[in-house]
Amino acid sequence: MRPLRPTLIAGLLLMAAGAAPARTEQANAPAWITLGTMGGPVPDPTRAQPANALVLGRDVYLVDVGDGAVEQLAKAHLQAMQVKAVFLSHLHFDHTGGLAALLGLRYQTNAPGPLAIYGPPGTRALVDGLVASMRPAAAAGYGLPGAPVIDPASTVTVTELVDGGTATLGGFTVRAARNTHYSFAPGSAEDSRYQSLSLRFDLPGRSIVYTGDTGPSPAVEKLGRGADLLVSEMIDVPATMARIARLQPDMPAGQRAAMAEHLTRHHLTPLQVGEMAQAMNVKRVVLTHLVVADADPAAVDRYLADIHQSFAGPVTPAHDLERF
Ligand SMILES: [Zn+2]
Ligand SMILES: [Zn+2]
Repeated sequence: MRPLRPTLIAGLLLMAAGAAPARTEQANAPAWITLGTMGGPVPDPTRAQPANALVLGRDVYLVDVGDGAVEQLAKAHLQAMQVKAVFLSHLHFDHTGGLAALLGLRYQTNAPGPLAIYGPPGTRALVDGLVASMRPAAAAGYGLPGAPVIDPASTVTVTELVDGGTATLGGFTVRAARNTHYSFAPGSAEDSRYQSLSLRFDLPGRSIVYTGDTGPSPAVEKLGRGADLLVSEMIDVPATMARIARLQPDMPAGQRAAMAEHLTRHHLTPLQVGEMAQAMNVKRVVLTHLVVADADPAAVDRYLADIHQSFAGPVTPAHDLERF
């Protein structure tokens, strides 16, 4: 018997596993699905790490790819095969940890490609490293002699975006603005090398701005002006520091102080989310990257009251797998 080609084998494996074709997305309007709403990087049983799916018809675009993003996609009845492109807001591991699985599993199932990956400076180095890590498994394939080997590098393309950068694909435009999640000294080597981005998606009939991780930022306010939906990060600094103290009681004092400074300067309090939403004049706000579990409704009420001091529109704290 002639050896089966890897593509065929992958198909047979899918059939054997009883994999049904991905459920067709019925809604025509572009949808935003919060796959993971936890503020990383500490894993949590109630919320997955930061990841989102932008769904246009059958096409899926991932916006940040935290650990477990492929699993979360499956729970949303979407398949890694449907993913056309990935957008990374910044390179913290809680936002990128699921990318290795996405690339490897797509490779192993011969997903149609290449997968387009957009992200800030440093994305190319990240993806090059992931591609290198795929080579041994790619060379071994399904263990059949003489089977052709596809270079994993051919299954991805990388486009690095900087402040003001745009890309047009799939019938929509994405625009990037440098935000304040990093505060390196202006003009320093780090400042010129690294950027954290907020992203605006101008879609058919709908505009969505995603803050990624950021502190207050006039550039982000400008980016989001007039958007239909603002998907904003939000932090509760005292609750987050309490969680860190509980989980890492032995953290050295210097490290703890640096963490407090990072959380305070590089993220948004509920009051700041409200001010930003009001300045943007958005129609609706969805909160994500939350660090407290849902368990405390009093805390959620406090957040909403703080936001509504400035912003009168609807505000929804997101859960995993909610569709907006
Ligand atoms: Zn984050
Ligand atoms: Zn971050």
